This record gives sequence, structure tokens and C-alpha cells, in this order.
Amino acid sequence: MPNVELIAVGTELLLGQLADTNTAYIAAHLADIGIDVFATHSVGDNRSRISSAITSALARADGVIMTGGLGPTVDDLTKESVCDALGLDEVLHEPSLLRMQAMFAGIGREMRENNRKQAMLPRGADVLENPNGTAPGFIVWTADGPFVACMPGVPREMKPMLEDYLRPALCRRFALKNSIFTRSIHCISIAESEIDHRIGDIFAKSENPKIAVLAHDSRIDVKLMAKTESYESAQAMFAPLQREIMERLHGHVYGIDATSLESAILDALRARNLRLATAESCTGGRIAAAVTAIPGASDVFEGGIVAYDNRVKEQQLGVAATILRDDGAVSESVVLAMAAGARRHFAVDVAVATTGIAGPAGGTDEKPVGTVWIAVDRQGAAPEARCLHLRGDRQTIQARATTAALALLWRQLSA
Ligand code: ATP
Ligand code: MG
Repeated sequence: MPNVELIAVGTELLLGQLADTNTAYIAAHLADIGIDVFATHSVGDNRSRISSAITSALARADGVIMTGGLGPTVDDLTKESVCDALGLDEVLHEPSLLRMQAMFAGIGREMRENNRKQAMLPRGADVLENPNGTAPGFIVWTADGPFVACMPGVPREMKPMLEDYLRPALCRRFALKNSIFTRSIHCISIAESEIDHRIGDIFAKSENPKIAVLAHDSRIDVKLMAKTESYESAQAMFAPLQREIMERLHGHVYGIDATSLESAILDALRARNLRLATAESCTGGRIAAAVTAIPGASDVFEGGIVAYDNRVKEQQLGVAATILRDDGAVSESVVLAMAAGARRHFAVDVAVATTGIAGPAGGTDEKPVGTVWIAVDRQGAAPEARCLHLRGDRQTIQARATTAALALLWRQLSA
């Protein structure tokens, strides 16, 4: 059984300003795949102390897993320390730089030179992708055996990186057999507490498979984890639990494992022989982008209008100037008129529309930043509009509005 040591980097940890939750999280996950943790350490933001912690841990263990200190600022020293400890230099990882540039362009912020530092990796390192932030993680496999893996300190970036990239890499490297097989039941438009209420008893009595409820913004996954030797035996373990859970969460489960909300929507449209169009203001085409990211979208997706300016709402979607003036562009009447207008314009069966204030400017007392109206207009059904009060920066609000609109659409289609 391989063994590792964990190093959490950050002066805040030593000053007691920050509780180190990463170490416990990582340790628990390593236990799941049969990796022993023999020691854990916290080290401040000090290059020589970090590198000597790495060196001494490597003398004892099969590997070191670190979190923190991958950021762009001068006190982020983890990479430099790994290079010192292993005698490596840093090289630019071009794909990470490009990804970062695209991300900054997306939120309309200028990328500073110090962000570039985050795309520098120790020579020969394997990248651990970071879909939730700027800094990629990495693993260096040293010539004489042990490895050093580094992940960001921010838990919401670290956790998926551990799950999706580091864990599989370690399983492959150490040929770990008593694997954990997972099944994700994807839910939408239901609170975590409500899920807990409905399946808490199953949750409490099921040890293998273990059950976890994981929230990703408005999407929530109920995850079943079976520890067993083969895929087939895992399937047999999942089947009865999955059936029971899906029954209890009926109306909120849009898919299993690889099924995304978008692909569930396309499937529902296809099954009902319906065509879809979009009319987007604050989401700027993200709904259309999400839908068209799925192969085969052309079967059911007609097109969309990014109706950003009021003129476009009027001229392309036929939203009446009077309601724009009286109710404002961010209002129930306008979002409903946009959805109806898109349905007319594209001559389709279903349309989804959004209008809102993504910020950072443009909010008022009455309609603060994060106020978003979404609507679905479907032939033969009453049009439905919802007002959302979203939090976060511009990108977050746009992303959440997109998900909420897709969720409303899915609920309408599966009703
Ligand atoms: P950033 O790019 O944000 O600077 P980073 O990888 O450099 O990320 P740190 O600067 O070390 O990480 O930490 C950033 C934040 O992540 C901390 O302020 C804290 O909120 C959280 N964090 C860091 N380490 C831990 C930890 N061990 N446990 C829990 N949270 C942590
Ligand atoms: Mg930092």
C-alpha cells in the first residue's frame, strides 16, 4: 500500500486565521482508494521552509501532496519550492496560459503579468486541470520514484481537481485495485436540505455504497460510491439504491453520470418532437452556447437572438416599447414578451428567454445586481416566468442565470 505525506502551505494556517480543511478532505479521499497518509504538515509561505518540508517528506514517503501557494502573488511560493527541492526549472505551460487568457477575457478583466506565473510549471510536470480557477495543479514524478503533487488552496478548486485528475492518476500509477466506483444522480431545482429530508434514512444506513450529496451551484448530485473489485459488481450494488433514490426525488432528476442538463433537454425535445429557440439578454448567448455544445443539437435547436439592447428586443422580438418603458427591460412582462417573440420569430414550439442585471454596474435599489428574469414559452402550455436574485460576480451571475433558465426549461419539458 503506497503512503504519502500531506503538506498544507499558508502562513494563515500557522497563525490560526484559517482552519486547514484541505488536509482532512484529501486524507479521507486517499483512504478510499487505499493510500495511507503517514504524516501531515503545515508550513508557512516561506520558500526554504517549504522546500525542506518537501525534501524530508520525500525521504520517507512514496509521495507528497500539497495544497496552497499556487496563486499569482509574491507569497505564493509552492512551485518555486518544489523546483528547489527537486532541482527543476519552470517552463511555460501554453494551454494553461491560453485558458487563463480566455477566462479573463470572459469576465472583462485585464490579465496581469503575475497571472502568467500561474501557467509556469516545473519542467516535466503533468498538469492537473483546474476547471474552477486560474491556477493549474500538477504532479512531478521523480526519476527515483516518489512524486510531488500540488493543488490550489481554494477548496472549491482543489476538490474537483483531486477527484477528477489526481485520484485517477494515483490509481493508475500505483495500480490500485479495490477501487471506488461512482454513480452520480444529477438533480436540479431542489435544495440540498430537501434532498436530505427525502433520502436521509437511505443515506444513514448505506455504508457500501456510501452516499454523498454534492452541491455545485444550483445543480446537486447524489453520489453513490461503491468499493468493490469490478464494474459489474458495482452496478449490481447501485441498482436498487438508485431506483429508490430516483423515486423519492422524482421530478428533479435530470440524468445519471455523464448526462448533462443540456443533453437531458435535447433528449426531451427530441422525444416530444419539439424545436427550441432562445432570446437572451443578460446571458449573452450562453444558453444557446450550452445547448449547441451538445452534438446533435441541430435536431431540435433552431437558433437564438442575443437581444441585448432594447432596440433588439423591440425590433427582433417584437417586445412593445411601452412595456420596456413602463416596466423596464428587467421585468416579468419583458421576459415573457421576449420568449413569445422568439417563438414567433423562429416559428418554433418552445422558447427560453433571459433578462437581468449581471453587474457590476447597473443595479438599483429596486432591481439590484443579480436580479434576473427567466421565462419559458411553450406551445400548448401556460408561459412561465421566474425572478431570480443571484449573487456573485458578473460571470457567476451569468452562469447561474444560464443554469436556472435551462432548469426551468427542463422542468417544463419533463412536466
Ligand atoms: P490563490 O490563487 O487564491 O492565491 P492558492 O493556491 O495560492 O490560491 P492560497 O493562497 O494558499 O492558495 O490560499 C487561498 C485561499 O484558499 C485561502 O485564503 C483559503 O481561503 C483557502 N485555503 C488555502 N489553504 C487551505 C486549507 N489548507 N484548508 C482550507 N482552505 C484553504
Ligand atoms: Mg495564494
